[in-house]
Amino acid sequence: MAGVAFIGAGSNIDPLENLLSGLKRIIENERAALVALSSFYRTSPVSDVAQDDYLNCALKIAWRGTPRELLTFLQALEAAHGRTRTVKLGPRTLDLDILLFGDTVMDEPDLIIPHPGLHERRFAIVPCLEMEQGLIHPRLGRPLSEFLDRIGPEQKIELFRRVSPGEIASFQDKKREKQ
Ligand code: ADP
Ligand code: MG
Repeated sequence: MAGVAFIGAGSNIDPLENLLSGLKRIIENERAALVALSSFYRTSPVSDVAQDDYLNCALKIAWRGTPRELLTFLQALEAAHGRTRTVKLGPRTLDLDILLFGDTVMDEPDLIIPHPGLHERRFAIVPCLEMEQGLIHPRLGRPLSEFLDRIGPEQKIELFRRVSPGEIASFQDKKREKQ
């Protein structure tokens, strides 16, 4: 099975370094071909846990494999970036979510597609729409853009900056090289 996946990426601990490093590992993977990359956005945490703002972005890849194989790969990347799951919705070095996988709708205990938070999170919707305006939510059957109007003003998002695929490819991770 193969498909076009939208992946959401976020970090609020050394966020620029962790995002660049994580995206680089995705792009370098032989099973992933980059189709599009969103800008990076600065966003407010969607959580009651006090923590720093996030950087978020999304990327669209052609993935040669199943959704589950993609989840396994993304979780290994989260772990490689020191992600620990101590506090739910707490600060994180790298969060990688499968937001969409083509028109796939699936419900397994540890893998729900589309991602269950997609339509409620401005930081996930905005970068996806930047890459593809007319996206339809395959489970809810409505344009993704419609859900933005239902999200409250407490979810803040602003453009951080554009990042080119070349900047990601040439990113040198000083921290991990030393280890
Ligand atoms: P969130 O990303 O919603 O803020 P977490 O990253 O802490 O929360 O959630 C991780 C859990 O979500 C994992 O155990 C994973 O199995 C599960 N999960 C379910 N569906 C997905 C999906 N589409 N993409 C990524 N993780 C998912
Ligand atoms: Mg996640």
